[in-house]
Amino acid sequence: MSAVVIQTSFLGDVVLTTPLIAELAARGPVDVVTTPAGAALLANHPSLRRLVIYDKRGAARGVRGLYRTAREVAEGAGAGGSPRTAYLAQGSLRSATLAVLAGIPERVGFASSAGRRLYTRRVPYHAEWHHAERVWSLALPSDARPATRAEAGVLRPRLYPGAAERDAVTALLAPLAGDRRPLVALAPGSVWATKRWPAYPALAAALAPNFRLVVIGAGGDSELASAIVAAAPGALDATGRLSLLGSAELIGRAACLVTNDSAPQHLASAMGTPTVAIFGPTVPAFGFGPLAPGSLIAEHDAMPCRPCDRHGPVTCPLGHFKCMREVTPVTVAGLARRAATSPR
Ligand code: SF4
Repeated sequence: MSAVVIQTSFLGDVVLTTPLIAELAARGPVDVVTTPAGAALLANHPSLRRLVIYDKRGAARGVRGLYRTAREVAEGAGAGGSPRTAYLAQGSLRSATLAVLAGIPERVGFASSAGRRLYTRRVPYHAEWHHAERVWSLALPSDARPATRAEAGVLRPRLYPGAAERDAVTALLAPLAGDRRPLVALAPGSVWATKRWPAYPALAAALAPNFRLVVIGAGGDSELASAIVAAAPGALDATGRLSLLGSAELIGRAACLVTNDSAPQHLASAMGTPTVAIFGPTVPAFGFGPLAPGSLIAEHDAMPCRPCDRHGPVTCPLGHFKCMREVTPVTVAGLARRAATSPR
């Protein structure tokens, strides 16, 4: 029985949808509808029959683009035929409409989602579960016992960098070849300003004597990277130099990743790299914490204003930003040393 997973949300959500994809692939062919960036992340994924790119803010925006994408979902299927069930991992009305227009008879999504009226089966949204587990639960029969974190092997997201990504990372790390110290990756960026911990340069200076350091992120993070390299001159600036899967490959080679509550954290979960995740205005209880074994959380545990926003406000509503400013580099460096020596 073939299925289609519709996931056009943020990159982290795409990564956290891979356990659902793997679960469905054990039952039959699986197609995925995702954004261009999401498709780049899911390249080489062995569980996929087909990736349908839905550029909802670009080439396929508007009603025409929606119809065109629906037609592609319905007509382009290979062996196994058109999808019989759509799993709405992203819960918008637009995604649900896409499934209806594609003529998919069974549509499964969360009971709390905006598109729920168009679903044929609604699954409870367990706010207290990790998001990977929530999305994975869409594939469970309604009377099934939920997974627990103890069964995290089932829920580990996976990505599959290929030869091109491996070669790119080997070339990038060439200046550090011969240095036997463990590699620590630093990801100082985030789309949301208040999710950015401001003390990465001091952290880099503290770690530099014992670790090789590499800074990862998008091209827009280069200013953050420059400040880190200025504080720890041996650190390598890889921002803007790798694809998303290339970044996953690089993180996979690191002994540990230090990151904010942002997409690199989920890349590390998929690559099994112990992670120190720094949380400020958000909290791990939202369901987006690191999943790789050996991961640790850095957070201010005495701030009654936390969490103050689902994603992180543009600026601190109280003006002091203590949730991040009072997480010290000494604390994070200690956690990074522990994570870097934890078994893989
Ligand atoms: S209000 Fe509190 S949790 Fe929100 S950004 Fe400011 S210090 Fe952080």
